[in-house]
Parts: sequence; structure tokens; C-alpha cells
Amino acid sequence: MSYSISQIATIIKAKQLQQQQDATVEHILLDSRKLLFPSGTLFFALAGPRRTGNTFITELYGKGVRNFVVDESFSIEAIAQYPEATILQVVNTLTALQSLVAYHRHQFKYPVIGITGSNGKTIVKDWLYQLLQDDYNVVRNPKSYNSQIGVPLSVWQMNEQHTLGIFEAGISQPDEMQRLEKMIQPTIGAFTNIGEAHSEGFLNIRQKINEKLKLFVHCPQLVYNVDDADMNEAVAAFASTVKQNNPIQLFSWSKRVVATLQIINIESNANATIIIALYKEDKIKITIPFTDAASIDNATTCWCVLLQLGIKQELIAEKMLRLRAVEMRLELKEGINNCSIINDSYSADINSLTIALDFLQQQQQHPKRTLILSDILQSGKSSAELYPAIAAILQQKKINRFIGIGLDISKQKEAFSNIPETNFFTSTEAFRQQFHSLHFYNETILLKGARAFEFEQISHLLEQQIHQTVLEIDLSAITHNLKQYQQLLNPGVKLMAMVKAFSYGSGSFEIANLLQFHKVDYLAVAYADEGVELRKSGITLPIMVMNAEETTFDVLLQYNLEPELYSFNILYAFQNYLQQSGINSYPVHLKLDTGMHRLGFEPQDIDTLAEVLQSSTVFKVQSVFSHLAASDAAEHDGFTEAQSISFLKSSKILQDKLSYTFIRHIGNTSAIHRHKNLQLDMVRLGIGLYGVDSTPSMQQHLKNVTTLKTTISQIKKVKKGESVGYSRKGIATKDSVIATVRIGYADGYPRILSNGTGKMWVKGKLAPIIGNVCMDMIMLDITGIDANEGDEVIVFGKELPVSDVAAWAQTIAYEILTGISQRVKRIYYEE
Ligand SMILES: *Cc1c(COP(=O)(O)O)cnc(C)c1O
Repeated sequence: MSYSISQIATIIKAKQLQQQQDATVEHILLDSRKLLFPSGTLFFALAGPRRTGNTFITELYGKGVRNFVVDESFSIEAIAQYPEATILQVVNTLTALQSLVAYHRHQFKYPVIGITGSNGKTIVKDWLYQLLQDDYNVVRNPKSYNSQIGVPLSVWQMNEQHTLGIFEAGISQPDEMQRLEKMIQPTIGAFTNIGEAHSEGFLNIRQKINEKLKLFVHCPQLVYNVDDADMNEAVAAFASTVKQNNPIQLFSWSKRVVATLQIINIESNANATIIIALYKEDKIKITIPFTDAASIDNATTCWCVLLQLGIKQELIAEKMLRLRAVEMRLELKEGINNCSIINDSYSADINSLTIALDFLQQQQQHPKRTLILSDILQSGKSSAELYPAIAAILQQKKINRFIGIGLDISKQKEAFSNIPETNFFTSTEAFRQQFHSLHFYNETILLKGARAFEFEQISHLLEQQIHQTVLEIDLSAITHNLKQYQQLLNPGVKLMAMVKAFSYGSGSFEIANLLQFHKVDYLAVAYADEGVELRKSGITLPIMVMNAEETTFDVLLQYNLEPELYSFNILYAFQNYLQQSGINSYPVHLKLDTGMHRLGFEPQDIDTLAEVLQSSTVFKVQSVFSHLAASDAAEHDGFTEAQSISFLKSSKILQDKLSYTFIRHIGNTSAIHRHKNLQLDMVRLGIGLYGVDSTPSMQQHLKNVTTLKTTISQIKKVKKGESVGYSRKGIATKDSVIATVRIGYADGYPRILSNGTGKMWVKGKLAPIIGNVCMDMIMLDITGIDANEGDEVIVFGKELPVSDVAAWAQTIAYEILTGISQRVKRIYYEE
């Protein structure tokens, strides 16, 4: 479905600042990095916390985009730079986007299921999709695109071929739902549940429920669970207030009281649950292949929606049996022959393919990008239309190698002829038989297959089998944390991300790739070889090296790394080196010691330093900086203040002597929010990026990044009085159950946590360590915990913050994170 520019201008009430021919718009673009089809695209320049969207217009214009929606910050003078563009001006670009999408939604009369709630939205949405895809052609949000920006992008996908929409809506503060409601306009509502999650933006639970209920103000039917007292009252009050305009039909379910669907029995065995309920006086039942409480609730919500849609109970029961877990994250794993594997088994459709390709594109560590794709089922388009469109996307995303698996895709071979290397197989089995002749080597491989193609067989061939202790790194949490700090920056302040010590233990190029994608201004590493690694993996951002030494000067120049100069010794040595190499204006950073007393020029050195710099042409001072010794501690705020005064004074002397300006920076993570006046021209963000901040009010806005997981190798019963482990240090004080897990001090787990000092998270409970920590193993007392051999154990993560483990070990999170040894495999994923 497409619209003409003049139609859109009317819908969003825009002023046409400049009009070229009346183009046709098929795609909307909100993020300049995600451009796919320049010609049919309309870019909405959304204002961010730190910049106006106008920043990206030049870039996009250069890439062929010709249609833009801007707000009043766009200056009329700028028009001359875009002679061929059509520019629509509105008061607020986000509101304009949302009105356009609301208008678009209005063009379709088929049912739309709207889902909200604190937890389970994405699962309920995807389960409904699994349950309904045979009967409907479904359009839904890709992944959990449920925000103010995710919803418009999702609803915009609606077209005439679809027969059902399923959209989830998520809000984090009051007054957001009204806008999502206008775009989704649900005809059947599902309220999954209400929990404590994301409460910050709301006064209390009741307000949170009421805000979420606004999704249903015009919705004639609503499914919800009455067992939560707040929810029950709120829904009743809501139904009676909206009554005049909207006689809403409530479909309640309960495990305790009479309800439209009243559950009378729930019985789980090892891997399935039977749920029996009363519905319209009949006893009905479903069996689902899950046993956890959340799955039972989510499946029940789906059950109600299906009954409400009039689907026959026999059919529902049959489909429920085949529910599958929803895999929401994108994972990057190490593969065979120096490959990296992204296994996205979520689904194969155009939207989720584009998201996965973005993730692939961020990875620069291998020279080659490969996609293995199955037939795309149920796209609503003919093969002849679909595959050429996909081929165009692949070319845009610079895919070097393409492997198509399936009968349909094989028939469309010619469409992919613009990709350098292609292979086609009619089935996964045919691919498997040829696997060894395909020679995968040093490439990033994205696997994207519809369920029926069983791509797990392929991932099994490609992935390296790993030792069962892993450090999982949530890349979307890093992005989230980055944004939390970016929002706190004064306008124009740059950001240097600290990726030293293997990115505080969490990886190197994987993290740097992500930071580069999100356009931070600078990276900093401790040693030259860390910088070399990043350059070799395709990182092009400027990189500061904090401990440069003479032996590494060659490498610095070869890889364009910028040293920190902190003493006259190193300064003169580098000056000589540059002179001998005949190099001028080489970028360097000057470190001043203002009280940390670690590295840096001292106040009395500054005049001499200024003279040397003034008289020499070999350096170009990129930045002058200092480091705060106690920016996190209120009792030392006076000292911090003194450091900053000393810094400003010295940097002023340097600035007065130099003919060009440099960047001044002094603030680390804690200083960003505790000393806003010290943000100066740039800040250096370290530990906060990785989800740890010593200020609780800041910590609360961060997401957990790293999870250290291990597994139980054996479980034993030990009698009261018996000892466990080396030196017989662990004595069972009662008859106990002991689990041995696959991690030890060689993995970086501190031995000081022996004998009950440390604990691990086993099946929702904390289990203390019994006996001494060994090199490769640890024994836990799991008495009273229902665990089995092979079960997962969390060493630290969301449930058990790394700061707690650090406190037990009488150290700080930095030490624990950077101490996880390299034999522990890292797995990167995006939610
Ligand atoms: C490590 C480091 C930082 C980052 O500190 P955090 O407390 O992790 O934010 C900043 N500046 C310098 C010089 C550093 O060495």
C-alpha cells in the first residue's frame, strides 16, 4: 500500500516547505542506518534526547532519499542544500508519524488483536500467531517492537493481503497509550497481567493498570485475568466509564473464582501441563508442552482469545499441543573455522530478516557476510515479487554469500544473481549432504529459517561445541545503558566509551562494533595491542591508547591509534620518533595529574609542556584530560572540585598557547550524573555501560549486561558430619544434597568465596558454596532445591547482581568482571 506525498501532507497537516514531483511513498524510515529503499522512502526526522533528526538529512539525501518530514528546528536556509527534496514541516514529527499510521490502520476492516500488560506480551503475541497462522494471514510486530516508535513501524506493515493483525503495545510512563491506541485500534483486547516491572514511570499499580487499559477505550472485547484484585477493580471501573461510547464485552479468566473461563484444575508432569476449565457450562481442556507458571498464564490468555474469536475447542486443543517456545534473542556464537554464527530461529519473514541483517551488518570481524535463508512462508506476496525484493535488501546490506534452502527460493535463483556467491538447495537435507564442500571459513553467518526447515541441524554443524560455563552478554542492554547516560549529557558533549581490559571482561570487537554502530565519538583501550585487535576487526572510530610505550610506536602509527602522553619521557620519545618518520600533526592526548597521582603531567609541568607543544609541529593535540579519584563519593566532593579547578586552570594555559582547540574531558561514569558541570566537552563512560553504577538511583535505570552461567555436572547425597572437597573444609551440618558445578578459580571465580561466603542462583533460590572453591569445580549445598543434573546455575546476572558477588569477595564489580578468564566462552545476544 502506498500514499502520495500530497495525500500524506494533508493527513499529517504539514506545511510543504519545498515540493518536487508528487512522489509515491511506500516505506517509512526513522533510523538513518536502516535505509533499504531510497526511492520510495519517507524519512521522519524524529528528535532524540541529544539531537534533532535533521542531522541525518544530508546523509540520507546523499544516499538518494528525497522525501522528508521535519519539525520547526529545521532551518529554511538549509533547503538550498537539498534541491531535489520534498520537505514537509510539522510541529512534532513523532505525532505526525503516529497520525499517518493511525490513518493507515483505518483503511483495514479485518480484526486486530491488541495486547498489553507488564509481562508476556511478546509471548502471547507470538503464540497467538502460532495458533492462528493456519487460518489467517497475520501481520504482527516484529520481535518486541511495541514502543512509540516500534508500533508505528509494525502497523505500517498492514496491507490488503492480511486478514488479521496482532499487535502488542508497551508503555513506560503515563500518556503514552493514547497514541498507541489510535494506531492499533484493536477489535479484541488481551491484558496479560500486571507486575512490578517498569514501575518507575508510574505513581502506583492502579495508575499503571489504568494507563494500560487506555489501549481498549474503543475496543469491544477484552480478555483479562480477574485473580489480581487491583486488576479486577480497575477493569470493572474502566468498563463502566467507557460504557456509553463502547459497551465493552469482558472475557475474564480465573484460577479461583467464577469467570468466563474458570480454571478448575492444572496438572503438570515432567514436560507438559493439562489445564481444565469451565466455559459456558462445558468442561474443556488443553495440554501445553510447558510447565512453568508464566507459560500456563500466557497459554490461558491465548485460549480465551481463541474462544472469543469463535475457534472450535477441538481445534484449539490440537494446536495448543504444538506450541513452541518463543526465541526472542539474536545470538552471536563462535563457529567452526573461525566463523561467527548468528542463529535466528525466531521466524523467517521480511521484517525479522531485516532486523537480523542489521545485527549481522554490525559485525565487522570477518571479511565475509553470509546468509543462509529458507523459503519465506506466508509473506502475502507471490514468490516472483518477494524474492527480488529480498535480493535488493541483501545487496543493500552487503551480503557476500547467499545460500537459499527450499523449493520456492531455488526456483527464484536468478533474482539473487547480483550477490557475489550463491548456492541453492531444495531442502535442509540436501544442504547437509553438501556441507563439507561448501567450505565455511572466516565469515559471519546468519541462519534464518522457517521452523519447518529445522535449521537447528545446520547450526549444529556450524557451531563450536563449548564448555558449559558461558558468559552471556546482552548487547541490547549495553545499548540501553549507553542511552541512559547519553540522555544525561549537556548538549554537544561527546562520549568516549572505555573498552579497555576486553571491554571490562565482556568482549572486544563485539562491543566496539555495537558502539561504533551507535556512533559514540571515541573508544579508549589500555594497551596498543587491544587497539590493534579492534582495527583488525574493522573498527574505524578514533581510538585512544592509555599506556603507550616506545616499543609500540610502530604499531600505533600502522593502525592509526592515538596515544595518551603523560610524561616528558614519553612525549620526547614520541616526538623524536615522529620527526624521524617525517610525520606531522599526529593525533595525541595529554593526560594531566590533578590529584589521582597515577599518570599525568603535574601542574608545575604545564608551562614547559605548553612551550614544547607550541614549538613542535609533529603533534596534533586531540584532547587534554584528567581522571577523578573519587567522583562517586559524596565525602570527597570537595576533592573532586579541587581536581576540576586544577584541570581547568592547566588546560586553559595549554589552550592559550595552541592555535587550535582541543577536547577537554575529566568525567567518568559516576561524574556524568553526579557532577554534571564536569561533563566539559566529552565524558568517558566505563562501568556504567556494562550495567553497574555505584549510585543506586542510577543503577536502577540500567539493565544487566553480563550473566555468568554454569551447569550442574553431578548431584550427591551427603550424610550429616561428612566432609566435602579439599582439606575437608566443608562439613555437612545435616543430611545434605550437594551439586557440583562446572566453574572454579581458573575461570576467575574468587577462591575467597569458599565455605558459604559465596552463593549461586539455582532454580530461583540462593545455594551456598560448601567447602573450598576448586580450580575447575565448585560444590553447592542445594538441600531443599528441586534441581537436576544438567540444570543451569547462575553465578551472577540479573537475579544475582555482580555487585553482590563482589561485595562477598570484598572487592568491586570491576575486578570480578575483568577477572572472568578467557576460557569462559562469551555469547552475545540481542533481545
Ligand atoms: C577506566 C577509566 C575510566 C572509566 O571509569 P568508570 O568508572 O568505569 O566509568 C575513565 N577514565 C580513565 C582514565 C580510565 O582509566
